[in-house]
Amino acid sequence: MRLVYPSLYLCIYNVASLVTHLGIRVIIGQMVIDFHTHIVPPRVKQNRQDYACSDAGFASIFSDPKAKLATVEELIAAMDRDEVELSIVLNYGWSTQSLCTEVNNYILESVAHYPKRLVGFCSVAPAEGEIALRELERCIKGGVKGIGELRLDNQLKSRNWLEVVSPLVELVIKNNLIMMTHASEPIGRQYPGKGKVTHNLLYALITDFPDLKLVCAHWGGGLPFYALMPEVKAAMKNVYFDTAASPFLYAPQIYGQVAQLVGAEKILFGSDYPLMPQRRLLKEISALDLSTGTKEKILSGNAQKLLGVANK
Ligand SMILES: [Zn+2]
Repeated sequence: MRLVYPSLYLCIYNVASLVTHLGIRVIIGQMVIDFHTHIVPPRVKQNRQDYACSDAGFASIFSDPKAKLATVEELIAAMDRDEVELSIVLNYGWSTQSLCTEVNNYILESVAHYPKRLVGFCSVAPAEGEIALRELERCIKGGVKGIGELRLDNQLKSRNWLEVVSPLVELVIKNNLIMMTHASEPIGRQYPGKGKVTHNLLYALITDFPDLKLVCAHWGGGLPFYALMPEVKAAMKNVYFDTAASPFLYAPQIYGQVAQLVGAEKILFGSDYPLMPQRRLLKEISALDLSTGTKEKILSGNAQKLLGVANK
């Protein structure tokens, strides 16, 4: 009998995990691109307190040992489990270029190792001027498709921040890259990492650089709601919104509401992994009363167009 219990348990466990595994594909039934994931080198994960001491923005989220950090192997395992074909791997908005560069190197290596599963974005510290520009040029040569996730509230304290960031934005536009920025709700509860990248800061960036392909994370901190103003909607012709961490922030109606306000073709599925498992958002989307075509756009179609990647 002693042998029966473990094997019975294993059998039940395997069936349960198989059903869970199959569940997402059965529900979603289409290609999935996650536009918002983060990875760090193992040494950052193992020595997070050292990095927190060097960077106040990182400390505000990750000095808590329960805040999740992931290596590339962990991300790939999560993608396999949740059936995500492709992920955009983002850096963090470190306050110094040396910290940005350390993780940029890891992102470049990771994309080289998993070229069919990952697309890399790099990070720079705009306040470091020429050094940041040279790093962006190096990363462009390394094959990155964009820059982000920027945290201009942590990375730029000066009042003339638009002037400071301008040469970087011009380089992004010139190389047909995408800029991804964190975004914060101006009201509501406070949470670690919320920050101050609110709609007014984003709108200044959008109107100063109308040709910039900008992805505003976390539903743009509510910026889509202003699309009811015709001039705001017109200004946002090159602006996209991702769904990163959506269940932490909004009721599920946000998907349908934003699709009505700015168009479903402007919404990108993003999880904010490892903050949240990819499957959590996939299950939320699968349960929405949206057309299959709308879900297809959100889950992969819009990302494919924006990245210029062919259907696999
Ligand atoms: Zn963010």
